[in-house]
Amino acid sequence: MTLGRSGVPYITTWSAEESLPTTVIQRPGGGIAYLDETLVDRDENGVLWQRVPSRPGRGRPEFGKVHPLRQRRAMRRLLCGICGGVPDRTDEGVLWLVRDFRGDWPDWPDGMAATEPPVCLPCAHRSVGACPALRIGFVAVRVGQSTVAGVYGTVYQGGQPFPAPVDDAVVAFDDSAIRWVQAAQLVRELGDCTILRAMPERRDQLWQRDRPGVPNGVGDGTQAHPA
Ligand SMILES: [Zn+2]
Repeated sequence: MTLGRSGVPYITTWSAEESLPTTVIQRPGGGIAYLDETLVDRDENGVLWQRVPSRPGRGRPEFGKVHPLRQRRAMRRLLCGICGGVPDRTDEGVLWLVRDFRGDWPDWPDGMAATEPPVCLPCAHRSVGACPALRIGFVAVRVGQSTVAGVYGTVYQGGQPFPAPVDDAVVAFDDSAIRWVQAAQLVRELGDCTILRAMPERRDQLWQRDRPGVPNGVGDGTQAHPA
């Protein structure tokens, strides 16, 4: 997948990927379904997903609009959200760029529900240089472990003749509200996190990391936990 090289992130929606029309109905036992639902409308957890065609590269990129299927694939398989390749990984974990909300709770971002996939080093460096939102207020994090924990999507409420959308929210798989969600993005809960004091340097010769005499993680900068 080389879309990232065209400057368009892997998970970005293109204008030819408009959501397909659906009729949301209420299931007899509670929860929502599509009137003409098929097997591919739900994931392996039985969660209903937005219906969108997959036509990357067609039309214009719609920056800021995430493509549900590619985002889901990137989150499930742990792929770089920008190029769709292998994200950067050291002994400390996988590299994530996340918005800096260090004030939110003491050991942030442990326990954070992430919808942004991880990144590889070249993409991390490119995006920090190219995306104004990331220049300030972002933080690079090593994530030691993460689990697919739920989805972000539109929560519906039962009603006649049709259920109605009431909120956009993150809903865990073990929450009974999951039956009322039309999912748009897969969520991973981040754990064993280390906030990096600086963006890791690009290591174009990754193999050096494992050579005798070269300490692991060389070039990663220094790490620090939040106070
Ligand atoms: Zn990448």
